[in-house]
Amino acid sequence: MERYATPGHRLRCVEMVGKRYLFTPGPTPVPPEVLAAVGSPVIHHRSSDFRPVYERVLARLAEVCRTENDVLLFGASGTGAFESAVANVVTPGEPHLVVSAGNFGERWVSMLAAYGADVDVLRYAWGETPDADDLAARLREREAKAVWLVHSETSTGVVADVRALTAAAKEAGALVVVDAVSSLGAVPCETDAWGLDVVVSGSQKALMCPPGLGVAAVSEAALAATGTSPRFYFDWERTRKAQRKLDAPFTPPVSLVAGLDVALGLLLEEGLEASFERHVRLGRAARAGVKALGLELFSPDEDRSAVVTAVRAPAGVDSGDVVQGVRDRFGITIANGQAELKGKIFRLGHIGWFDVFDITTQIAAVELVLGELGADVEIGDAVTAALGAFSSEPSRT
Ligand code: PLP
Repeated sequence: MERYATPGHRLRCVEMVGKRYLFTPGPTPVPPEVLAAVGSPVIHHRSSDFRPVYERVLARLAEVCRTENDVLLFGASGTGAFESAVANVVTPGEPHLVVSAGNFGERWVSMLAAYGADVDVLRYAWGETPDADDLAARLREREAKAVWLVHSETSTGVVADVRALTAAAKEAGALVVVDAVSSLGAVPCETDAWGLDVVVSGSQKALMCPPGLGVAAVSEAALAATGTSPRFYFDWERTRKAQRKLDAPFTPPVSLVAGLDVALGLLLEEGLEASFERHVRLGRAARAGVKALGLELFSPDEDRSAVVTAVRAPAGVDSGDVVQGVRDRFGITIANGQAELKGKIFRLGHIGWFDVFDITTQIAAVELVLGELGADVEIGDAVTAALGAFSSEPSRT
């Protein structure tokens, strides 16, 4: 630590400039153009001011989801979009299968149980990557009306091979519902090409908006298979009919929709492929920095881990102290582990409006704080390693 933080030369950014950095895997930083749109005067949702914005947002969402299907927009967080899927697909008592390897897989399990589904769980230890052969084998043992997947398990940093999992589910004749809350826009999610029946997401991750909008891309097969669970606000058919007339069924959060319009414009201007490549590079940079510090990765060391980098706290250190340290000292918000991983891992987000210096800032701050906590870390090389990895040619896995 001598190199940076000798007594009397202790970096204290918060006091100096009061600057804040949001580096969690959601919500994520929002570009100023988007904030300006969100802060513009409120317009009426049944007027000619709003309709072109609504039309553009729905078209842009379909482009980002890579689908010809309807993409339904709800005033709700990502979990609201989850609930729309459960409320529309499930009839109580029907068999469903969840592939769970973390906090958000468990959310599908709890929600399906709350709606009375007969839920089977293909459960992995947190941090493991689900396997399509396991899924195929489970579906041979027990049928399921739908298979519920998590694309990017934000609690562990694992990005599942949704394409292969979907192929296994389709082979068994099941519908496929995908939680793409932290993946949509950051890693490839080919709704139509992979045959995903339902893709749910939220505004506050790679879509670069404040929280508050939930999205559900819904196939004709999913609409035809709707169940009998009670629903009203989240009834897909009601929203679909209204959206097709550009007449939202309820008052939408118009300011967020205006922000999403600008954010999706930015994303599509960059290009989805370019965004995917940038996220691959960001993940590479984060992992290289972490490894140069001598820390152990919790998320897989592969290019698919492009959304969030989960890191094991070094021996004798509670990850909460790292999170607290970078927050108190530098105004930087990173994420602790969730549930059973709380205190054991910390998570560096890199979804959405991020560039490499958002990675090096996180790495440098973690390095300083770990040094001060007396952790056994390699001081001095991490930022250089991160910058080098960002510029290297990604080899896709
Ligand atoms: N699924 C995943 C993978 C997530 O990362 C999140 C948000 O953290 C959610 C679901 C829940 O979304 P929300 O918090 O917007 O309800």
